Amino acid sequence: MQNNTIAARSIAIVGGGQAGLLLGCALLDQGYQVTIATNRTGEEIWNGRVMSSQFMFNPALQIERNWGMDQWEADCPKTEGISFSIPTPDGSGNKAIHWHARLNAYGQSVDQRVKMPGWMAEFERRGGELRMENVGVPELEALAAGHELVLLAGGKGEIVNLLTRNDERSPLRQPMRQLALSYVSGMKRHDYYECVNFNLIPGVGEYFVFPALTTHGANGTQACDIMVFEGVPGGPMDCWGEVKTPEQHLEKSLEILKTFVPWEYARSRDCQLTDANGIIAGRITPQVRNPVLTLPSGRKVMGLGDAVLVNDPITGQGSNNATKSAQHYFDAICARGTQRFDEAWMNQTFDALYNGYAEKVVRWTNSLLTPPPDYIVKLLATAQQSPSLASRIANGFNDPRDYAEYWFDEAAAERLMAAELQALPA
Ligand SMILES: Cc1cc2nc3c(=O)[nH]c(=O)nc-3n(C[C@H](O)[C@H](O)[C@H](O)COP(=O)(O)OP(=O)(O)OC[C@H]3O[C@@H](n4cnc5c(N)ncnc54)[C@H](O)[C@@H]3O)c2cc1C
Repeated sequence: MQNNTIAARSIAIVGGGQAGLLLGCALLDQGYQVTIATNRTGEEIWNGRVMSSQFMFNPALQIERNWGMDQWEADCPKTEGISFSIPTPDGSGNKAIHWHARLNAYGQSVDQRVKMPGWMAEFERRGGELRMENVGVPELEALAAGHELVLLAGGKGEIVNLLTRNDERSPLRQPMRQLALSYVSGMKRHDYYECVNFNLIPGVGEYFVFPALTTHGANGTQACDIMVFEGVPGGPMDCWGEVKTPEQHLEKSLEILKTFVPWEYARSRDCQLTDANGIIAGRITPQVRNPVLTLPSGRKVMGLGDAVLVNDPITGQGSNNATKSAQHYFDAICARGTQRFDEAWMNQTFDALYNGYAEKVVRWTNSLLTPPPDYIVKLLATAQQSPSLASRIANGFNDPRDYAEYWFDEAAAERLMAAELQALPA
């Protein structure tokens, strides 16, 4: 049932990405007037470079389902588990640690080049106003003058730097990994269920790979796999500067696999890029920003998604965070009724998200960017013996708050290992 007073409330969102389009569509369904200003057309996105590996776990997928935003669920490959491997340090190409565990429910990755053009059309179908606009301060002022609430969800766009860094919440000051993605077809399957295959190569970086749905031709889609490389700066996987063409990018990807994770090379050696735009390389500085921007006029704008919470992709949480943030903001907006969206409400809303959820995701993600302490290596090795421990670690990706119970404290980790080993059948 729509409320006529609330129906008149107008909200503007800058940035048609995971957070902006999702929240925009959900608010339209509640009778809000929503304008989204974004700087790339659906066609440009579809035909452009990949932006992310965007793997999402079930709790975030469920939010999309609840809002009728799961248009590709039937077509997208389903990833049922997490596998984890560490190679032996002798360079022999053997695994020192290996386990795999089922997720409680499957996860999926729909290429943002497929999803965002589809969601833009859906947003307009639900009655939203979609503006093609590269938003700067004058455009923010105009949006703030004409709407009761402006959310800045510009992802990693230059504009989000108007929001200031929260130093206390941002312990890292520089990129901790050199990132690269390769979207490929032709990968051989495992003889067990589909996994996010996570390989940790000490001192070198991480390689993970999982199935996804990507673009194919003008309008079609196809299944693929996404290779994600996370190279320690200055190490042998920090090697993308010399790569100039898509062919060289694929060659470099396979060379890394052959050298460091030969079991992944064995099933990838015949892979081809899905398309010349199915590659990207770059760096990200993880940071948390303050949620409120004061414009020269004194009007306030509130950050959402990556604009306020940028994590390294090592734990695959960014799109998940953006989605859970959209849900959190949606609840707060609806609960606000007819009251003003003032600065205090903006800060309270973000602090509740940060303190209740995001802080633990940030802490866990950042912890994986420095060499693991011995007890974490022991924990990961113990999971090889204990399926129940492996399951607990794997399912933490659904809601990383669970890691706070044991990941950061050696004594708690030891207690967990002891309990899990004791529970094993004799
Ligand atoms: C290499 C890599 C791998 C990743 N892998 C994963 C993963 O596996 N799982 C996961 O959960 N997350 C992953 N992420 C993170 C995830 O992609 C982001 O966290 C997520 O897309 C953030 O959503 P958002 O809506 O905040 O921003 P975005 O989805 O980036 O959307 C921002 C939008 O704002 C628009 N915009 C920017 N500036 C302006 C402007 N001035 N005016 C108007 N519009 C503007 C952009 O065009 C874009 O449409 C990965 C990121 C990277 C870089």
